[in-house]
Amino acid sequence: MKISDISSYLESIAPLSLQEDYDNSGLIVGEPDTLIHAALISLDCTEDIVDEAISKGCNLIISHHPIVFKGLKKFNNKNYVERAVMKAIKHDIALYAIHTNLDHISGGVNAKICEKLGLQNVQILSPKKNLLKKLVTFVPLCHVERVRNAVLEAGAGHIGNYSDCSFNVTGTGTFKAGENADPFVGKVNEVHQEEEVRVETIYPDYLERKVLVALLEAHPYEEVAYDLYPLSNSFYQAGAGMVGTLQTATDEMQFLQFAKSALGARVVRHTALRGKPVRRVAVCGGSGSFLLKAAIAAGADAFVTADFKYHEFFDAEGKIIISDMGHFESEQFTQELLFDIIKKKFPNFAIHLTAIDTNPINYLI
Ligand SMILES: [Zn+2]
Repeated sequence: MKISDISSYLESIAPLSLQEDYDNSGLIVGEPDTLIHAALISLDCTEDIVDEAISKGCNLIISHHPIVFKGLKKFNNKNYVERAVMKAIKHDIALYAIHTNLDHISGGVNAKICEKLGLQNVQILSPKKNLLKKLVTFVPLCHVERVRNAVLEAGAGHIGNYSDCSFNVTGTGTFKAGENADPFVGKVNEVHQEEEVRVETIYPDYLERKVLVALLEAHPYEEVAYDLYPLSNSFYQAGAGMVGTLQTATDEMQFLQFAKSALGARVVRHTALRGKPVRRVAVCGGSGSFLLKAAIAAGADAFVTADFKYHEFFDAEGKIIISDMGHFESEQFTQELLFDIIKKKFPNFAIHLTAIDTNPINYLI
């Protein structure tokens, strides 16, 4: 299997365009055509992880956090980033990161945390905006089903739990083929009227190429008429954080104890208890303080996340219990998630979960 086989599969699940602007997900070191013997999965990509890949015979490391965030100008082995990258290059080990794009999908990092906490009816906490587009095209009656099916199969037409969503209305199309045209219907230099169906559907922007290729392949006309509209609707299938409900309302201290053990946290830093049971819970793996307002607005009683700063804890204002579990702790199950995602598609491929705890934070208790 080539690196590109695995990367294109991962990117079909977590498209690179869903990553944040500051992020650097994707293939960081290596060439897409390289054959992979085995892959190592880790949360972080450190020098120790590269050593582990060498010892386990893995020539691909798939990590959640990218080892390279900013431009590297020098390679002098002066810090852990330079050392890890240089060691990987010297040993022909490819480095791949699947970071905020994996955070932003509905089956990603946060879904895994929700699963560990036993949350139900989970939804994206802060859905992506400006990601949806509308496709309108005009198809002769004889080809409507074929064209509609092609664009739907390419991924258009999903709204919540519904697929194959489209709207179709019949009307009359007119056109006059020019001298060099080879029209599917009508004659050159004659105005033609054709009964056509206006088919409209929606798709997320990252599927645009796939949807258009499907449209153009299935449509019988030489020149396909279609319109693409940006939509300001939110895209509820992708975005930051998640929110869900516990099966039964739980005493708040009991909930914190449960969340601590479910996520394997050594310490939980939390705001004052509110004297109310916890039923609705918001989660965000890693740094989640930017979602505090969204968590409160979603009616969450508790927010399970990490990396809150001192002053940010004050913002709970008695409206929610912020529970900071630690960055590594909240995201560690991402390794398991990646393992399952890859195993499902490539059951015979050799993948290893790292045996190294890369958490740079130690606790003195
Ligand atoms: Zn993280």
